[in-house]
Amino acid sequence: MAVIAFVGLGQMGRPMSLNLMKGGHTLQVFDVDRTAVDVLAQAGAKGCASPAEAARGAEFLITMLPNGDLVQDVLFGDQGATTTLASSALVIDMSTIHPLQTDQLIARMAKIGIEMMDVPVGRTSDHAVTGSLLLLAGGTELQIERAKPVLMLMGNELVNAGGPGMGIRVKIVNNYMSIALNALSAEAATLCEALGLDFDVALTVMKGTPANKGHFTTTWPGKVLKGDLSPAFMVDHAHKDIGLALDVANRLHTTLPMGAAAREIYNQARAKGRGRQDWTAVLEHLRDASGLRTPTGIR
Ligand code: NAD
Repeated sequence: MAVIAFVGLGQMGRPMSLNLMKGGHTLQVFDVDRTAVDVLAQAGAKGCASPAEAARGAEFLITMLPNGDLVQDVLFGDQGATTTLASSALVIDMSTIHPLQTDQLIARMAKIGIEMMDVPVGRTSDHAVTGSLLLLAGGTELQIERAKPVLMLMGNELVNAGGPGMGIRVKIVNNYMSIALNALSAEAATLCEALGLDFDVALTVMKGTPANKGHFTTTWPGKVLKGDLSPAFMVDHAHKDIGLALDVANRLHTTLPMGAAAREIYNQARAKGRGRQDWTAVLEHLRDASGLRTPTGIR
């Protein structure tokens, strides 16, 4: 059983560290909120007065903090963990932070000879309580192998994201999609209501279409991902149809800002001569606009 330093005992960190203790590990914990430390201390952890104190003698240091600057502070501040952390220790940042800051922190730790990996989590604090988080592991194969027994006390599913810094990258991509889709879904539901259409009817229809299933696994594999842009459904027609929705919404004083942005993407694709290509060609259009010239890396 290992000595684990845990910093950041909030909604997520508190139940995660409790689960590590249940798993038989010795916890040395720190949080700027003294009450949070006391709760863990009462459950059997060693309450510490600084990251440095928590990190002393630890085999793993886990951080679960609100942002990257705080992670940096906990590692490199005055009373930071690196002032005491053994070079054989493994740092695991489980916070959701800026991916480029993750890269910087990993590089900075490497300079002082300490390994660091990123393992942000999916799901919610309820899953943190039940030890059923989705673990998005960035790190080398060896690091993941080493951390796995500890990680699996906090989660029930581990995804090897493909290397250092890739855990936070997959987390950001996943959240981008989920968060944007939430707003787009709200637009569709609002349009439905403004049109006086029964939402259950719309839901029944959308259940069987890319509207609800998404495009990655429905329209893309047979077309753009195969390099086939011959039209099953044309960019021109997609542009017309989204225009119909936007026009009727406008007349009903309904606001669809994401739809307006989407129409502009189809508009640009048409301007680049893609009007008669398959609507999945918007992927190629955005890749072009982003300077990605190699064949798509998505399969
Ligand atoms: P939280 O605000 O509940 O907890 C953060 C904790 O960090 C607090 O206890 C705070 O006192 C402590 N803290 C702040 N600065 C500190 C410092 N310098 N030193 C030590 N402790 C410090 O937040 P949370 O919901 O536990 O989220 C933590 C991270 O997990 C975030 O990056 C969040 O995006 C991510 N996350 C949260 C959820 C969720 O459902 N809550 C899900 C997935 C990922």
